[in-house]
Amino acid sequence: MNAWLNVLRETLGPDKVLFSAVDRVAYSFDGTFEQHLPDAVVLAESNEDVSQVLRTASYYDVPVVTRGMASGLAGGAIPTQGGIVLSLVRMNRILEIDETNFTATVEAGVVTADLQSAVEKLGLFYPPDPSSIKQSTIGGNVACNAGGPRCLKYGVTGDYVMGLTVVLADGRLLRTGNKSIKNVTGLNLSQLFVGSEGALGAITEVLLRLVPKPPYARTALAHFPRLEDASRLVESVLRRGVVPATLELMDETAIACIEDAMHLGLPLDVEAILLIECDGMDQQSVMREVETVAGVCTEVGASRVEVAQSEEERAELWRARRSVSPSLARQAPNKLGEDITVPRSAIPEAVRRLKAVSAKYGLPIVIFGHAGDGNLHPNILFDRRDSDQWAKVGQMVGEIFLIALDLGGTLTGEHGIGTFKLPYMEAALGRTSLNVQWRIKLALDPQNILNPGKVLPGF
Ligand SMILES: Cc1cc2nc3c(=O)[nH]c(=O)nc-3n(C[C@H](O)[C@H](O)[C@H](O)COP(=O)(O)OP(=O)(O)OC[C@H]3O[C@@H](n4cnc5c(N)ncnc54)[C@H](O)[C@@H]3O)c2cc1C
Repeated sequence: MNAWLNVLRETLGPDKVLFSAVDRVAYSFDGTFEQHLPDAVVLAESNEDVSQVLRTASYYDVPVVTRGMASGLAGGAIPTQGGIVLSLVRMNRILEIDETNFTATVEAGVVTADLQSAVEKLGLFYPPDPSSIKQSTIGGNVACNAGGPRCLKYGVTGDYVMGLTVVLADGRLLRTGNKSIKNVTGLNLSQLFVGSEGALGAITEVLLRLVPKPPYARTALAHFPRLEDASRLVESVLRRGVVPATLELMDETAIACIEDAMHLGLPLDVEAILLIECDGMDQQSVMREVETVAGVCTEVGASRVEVAQSEEERAELWRARRSVSPSLARQAPNKLGEDITVPRSAIPEAVRRLKAVSAKYGLPIVIFGHAGDGNLHPNILFDRRDSDQWAKVGQMVGEIFLIALDLGGTLTGEHGIGTFKLPYMEAALGRTSLNVQWRIKLALDPQNILNPGKVLPGF
């Protein structure tokens, strides 16, 4: 047995340190289709446990991959270089909900949906809502700066982070931020760790901003014969002073997949549908907002707009959006979901070019995403057992990233870089930016033990 494994078993106790073949397999993957075995898994229960793991790993120079629920879609939680998987799911306590200052302090392993329901019972609201809310942790959301359908109005996870507790590579505890709304004392270290994907430290506690829960929401589904018109809608709606909570785009391939799986009665003769939701504190205003958006939809080219008249109808409209990912499984054994972001005005051109890539390689690309913030999820459908298809997927992904960059966009809007997008980082950011980021990394993790080979190409 490795010396470091002995140390961890002695200091943490054997029930927190797993290393059987079965346990190693169980912690070898994330939400993608890649896999790599760790040498051991630690189920940390406290800051002290995490600190002990990182002190030991530094001393013995062992790689550490911090892990939440492993729902990540970029390979970030896969221990590609072996070593320790540091799972934080046992650190799942909501430490405080401060109803006066509208904040919540939670351990990193709290499941996002659990936090949402806890604060909603008190009339408060934690808006970030990745579709994986039931399968992802707050720590993972902060580490990936997770988004979701509500970003246009409410922003992303990072917009709610007021402070963090982070265990550094050498085991020291760093506390950043506090409940003060205004705080410019020193560099904003909280935001440095937002989106750092486990490469700068293990986030163990998070102080989050909350807002009052909007009690009213109205939902509509607009049918667009031309996808171009659907993306023009966003600008027209915003100009009317309405900021919908949700503007979810599904293209014709996505609609066909959902219909094939669910038979919801979605239109098969249009290029796109948009799921629109407005919410707020005042019922009449919310009704007016939805009516305004429905009117604008018709003005810019929608052939039909269905407005949900009841909670049941609203749930039915949402079923379409929530069914996209599962319905793809019926179409092909594998899917690779990308996460590019382009300026909103470039959505039609991005979709045109993505369809051309699909036609060039003969593999379907299903497109859906968050139209309000230009964040598209092109999903390539394929069979990984077919080496020819697998080779094509690699080339298609490269072309998808180049489309995003060429249109003034970026590699990822919410899923992160992990290992999958690493080769494209220089094209996206340039050498100077990568060099600055690498120096920050080495200042915090001089031995490069934290998630090595991910997020940041060494420079
Ligand atoms: C069906 C499905 C739908 C999804 N929908 C969305 C969506 O709408 N929006 C969105 O943004 N994402 C989405 N995702 C992606 C994923 O759920 C998010 O990236 C999520 O934030 C990951 O959380 P996790 O706890 O599973 O993290 P993990 O997958 O365990 O880890 C992800 C990365 O964060 C690091 N990490 C995790 N916890 C910590 C920590 N405490 N400290 C430091 N580093 C840490 C890991 O090392 C890894 O690099 C979806 C995934 C699936 C499978």
